Amino acid sequence: MTTDTQEKTGLGNYFVANYPPFSLWKPAYLPDARAVLDSPPRPDTPLGLYLHIPFCRKRCKFCYFRVYTDKNAREVELYSEALVKEVALYAKTRFLGERGLHYVYFGGGTPSYLSASQLRELMTRLQHHLPWDGAAEVTFECEPGTLQKHKLETLRELGVTRLSLGIENFDPKILEFNGRAHLEEEIYRAFGWAREVGFEQINIDLIAGMVGETWDNWRACVRKTLTLQPESVTIYQMELPYNTVFSKEIRDTDAAGRTSLPLQSTTLTLAPSEVADWPTKRAWVNYAFDTMLAAGYEISSAYTLVKNKARTRFVYRDALWRGADMFGTGVASFGHVGGVHVQNLDRWEDYLAALDRDELPLGRALPVSADQLLIREVVLLLKTGRLELSPLQRKFGVDVRQRFAEPLAQLQEGGNLILHDDRVELTRQGLLQVDRLLPVFFEPQHRVSRYT
Ligand code: SF4
Repeated sequence: MTTDTQEKTGLGNYFVANYPPFSLWKPAYLPDARAVLDSPPRPDTPLGLYLHIPFCRKRCKFCYFRVYTDKNAREVELYSEALVKEVALYAKTRFLGERGLHYVYFGGGTPSYLSASQLRELMTRLQHHLPWDGAAEVTFECEPGTLQKHKLETLRELGVTRLSLGIENFDPKILEFNGRAHLEEEIYRAFGWAREVGFEQINIDLIAGMVGETWDNWRACVRKTLTLQPESVTIYQMELPYNTVFSKEIRDTDAAGRTSLPLQSTTLTLAPSEVADWPTKRAWVNYAFDTMLAAGYEISSAYTLVKNKARTRFVYRDALWRGADMFGTGVASFGHVGGVHVQNLDRWEDYLAALDRDELPLGRALPVSADQLLIREVVLLLKTGRLELSPLQRKFGVDVRQRFAEPLAQLQEGGNLILHDDRVELTRQGLLQVDRLLPVFFEPQHRVSRYT
């Protein structure tokens, strides 16, 4: 691959979310997951619950998640019932042990797609099986256009502590062109209500490099974000995974032998192949980092800035990246139980049918060796920009500097990392492109595996 090709935003995944790669997870390993669920948990391992709410008003053109935009109220109800049953099944496993939930995460899709009464019913029933009143954090993802003040009040009452608003961009033309369902004014309205009802932990998601993005607009996005003063800001760099609307449009364009296929929205004519290249996206994130640092924010990972590190936590991320267990519930959800990765069945009918038979809807799994768990923790923690070596050495009984001598030296040589006696720190250059650097830590046979 030439440097030019590497720097262009091509089709495929870039973000490293887990290790070993998803392409290695298989149904054949499900007995390993079931055996773990029939055993007591490893001592002192926190447990979380992820709930996938797979409904959205519209499919964003860059989205690669399992989401549905065509389900009616009865189907939403059926899905909610299945989710409650799944949580009830997990609550009966030996693996739960004496543990309460340390963190809960409602992700999607769009959890806020559900009405206030649907949410009340669902959350009350879920908590009957696995209460979260002792959890350190309950996060709920929202799409601004689906919020009303009374829905936010309901969420507060039901124990949600952290809201994550999927804003992505503020410009109406860019939002529309990329298939987002919400409008700019809905962002300000939703944010104001969230503050009024008393949410003290609000995250805003942005994407650097949506189709149609420009320097001027990106500066405006950062300025408008700062005006809102959220506790946390998460910035992703736009990717083009294979199964998105944009990727299909690009493939169709290539197949037709054209260099670009102008796509019409009511206000813009663009081609998805005009996604900014990686250096431009990194420059945008770098600009956001510098501007927000100057405004008093602190960097908490390659993607996240927080207003006050001492008061802003992200328990879900920190627990998961440090090897916590997590029941991943809902169609196609990912979880981790006692050294085994698991993913649920990823088709609506199969997911519901398994629960109808009173079975956990597990689709594939992967038992992870101790060395792979170490690699996983190293690569995920490197995304925070900082890796403390002694705690890892104590936990895994391995000299981490020695085990990863080669990749650490390679990244240091490239100016991406600084190696101190007891810690590793990524430079800004390393932090901005951390996902493409991480595969050097993988086992050799997995450096070239298809990631998803
Ligand atoms: S709102 Fe989120 S989950 Fe739904 S289609 Fe858009 S990106 Fe995907």
